[in-house]
Amino acid sequence: MATTGVKTYRNYIGGEWVDAVGGETFESTNPATGETIGVFPKSTEEDVDRAVEAAKAAYEGWRLVPAPKRAEILFRVAQRFVDRKDELTELMVQEMGKVRAEAGGDVQEAIDMTYYMAGEGRRMFGHTTPSEMPDKFQMSVRQPVGVVGAITPWNFPIAIPSWKIAPALVCGDTVVFKPATDTPALGERFVEIFEEAGLPAGVLNIVHGGGATVGERLVKHPDVPLISLTGSREVGVKTAQNGAALLKHVHLELGGKNAIIVMDDADLDLAVDGILWSAFGTSGQRCTAASRVIVGTKVYDQVASKLVERAEKLTIGYGLDEGVEIGPVINKSALEKIDSYTGIGKDEGATLLTGGEVATGNGLDQGFFYRPTIFGDVEPDMRIAQEEIFGPTTALIRASDIDEAIRAANSVEFGLSSSIFTRDVNKAFRAMRDLQTGITYVNAGTIGAEVHLPFGGTKQTGNGHREAGQAALDFYTEWKSIYVDYSGKLQRAQIDVVESPAP
Ligand code: NAD
Repeated sequence: MATTGVKTYRNYIGGEWVDAVGGETFESTNPATGETIGVFPKSTEEDVDRAVEAAKAAYEGWRLVPAPKRAEILFRVAQRFVDRKDELTELMVQEMGKVRAEAGGDVQEAIDMTYYMAGEGRRMFGHTTPSEMPDKFQMSVRQPVGVVGAITPWNFPIAIPSWKIAPALVCGDTVVFKPATDTPALGERFVEIFEEAGLPAGVLNIVHGGGATVGERLVKHPDVPLISLTGSREVGVKTAQNGAALLKHVHLELGGKNAIIVMDDADLDLAVDGILWSAFGTSGQRCTAASRVIVGTKVYDQVASKLVERAEKLTIGYGLDEGVEIGPVINKSALEKIDSYTGIGKDEGATLLTGGEVATGNGLDQGFFYRPTIFGDVEPDMRIAQEEIFGPTTALIRASDIDEAIRAANSVEFGLSSSIFTRDVNKAFRAMRDLQTGITYVNAGTIGAEVHLPFGGTKQTGNGHREAGQAALDFYTEWKSIYVDYSGKLQRAQIDVVESPAP
């Protein structure tokens, strides 16, 4: 692809837009058309070191800005996201490939998150609690930690950075942000908005480049105490190992193998709507995508045939075109991986009910399009039912009752999202209690998180932290307990015991 007239982007370090020290570049391309979106600095460790230095210097001032004043900048950022929603949405369709409505939802999530976290500037509650001693006051307060390394994937290129960066900033931390190399233009635009809103120099920096160089240097840098990474399990494990050497706080949001359970008593049309949206929305490239559907044996055939019929009617194409429901997958290697899992499914003895091939013709040949794919007769232990494919492929599994359904749902290493369609309140409550995931939906698909509830998964989906909601503050701050003794004498806790009044 020609790069004439293509915009060249820079890193943003200490309030300046700068080239990478080594001068090398990489390109970002449109996964639907192959067109070049822009040219970006392929940064080195030296660029990371400069950004960390800037963020560390800025931290000393930023941590002392009163939280409600930090929040005022975030309110302005949120308003700018609103003002530029259409432009960001269009760029997201071009750079990442999701269809217009979903790209708008991604930007909306950043708007919601930024407003929500701005509100924390006037809350960020700690506790006060009575002392066991007379004339003594005590409280716990949240304190910022320092420089955050925010490392993000390409599938939510505006929303996920906001999940990390908005809470970090309101809490008083400063940030070095490394976006995915598939969506760097969106990363740049994200940071530009904070600059426009008046964020002081050095508080938020962006360094473009690969995971093995820029990402790993951030994780290993001694002046970056907090790492928040969303990505694959493999990268998560490596990041945890690298961070452990310096006892860093490492927050990981990793893969999923999410299941929708459809009980025999469910509203089947509603369930089919939920499955289609959850399995094929964003071409299945959501960490919460429903890549498994566990169906009651009595309704299995009905659900399978309704699903196949509806999946075959979905319109595949360029996300900016009217009526398109399924966009491309992110790149060639993703397309090849997805297709290889079709082969694996067939070899394992599952029945390919529809799809299972690269979509071509009708203007699709320049992009990475895959047909919505449904496998039937899948056993819970097959690879297509265990491994994250991250594409528009879902696996139908039979279950004779709620126990078997929950057992199958829980039989994977991941634990992000789950769902049950049922009209039986007893089964719904069993699912809410027993599904081993961080998120469970009742009578909805596996997608639909809102920003004021914790987001994250159990088991190998993460390491116990959560994004979003009040829970996010726990990662971006540390608790400090403060004791104020106004008795005028030395009172020794647990030793100078005050007797309780006699009965
Ligand atoms: P990825 O793991 O390939 O990359 C994620 C980020 O980590 C990128 O910015 C990448 O450059 C960086 N990276 C790669 N190697 C690194 C290293 N050694 N050290 C530091 N950083 C490194 O993932 P991806 O393909 O961008 O995203 C897809 C994955 O993300 C899927 O597994 C998906 O389930 C997961 N995901 C999870 C959530 C969640 O909240 N749980 C949300 C979205 C995506």
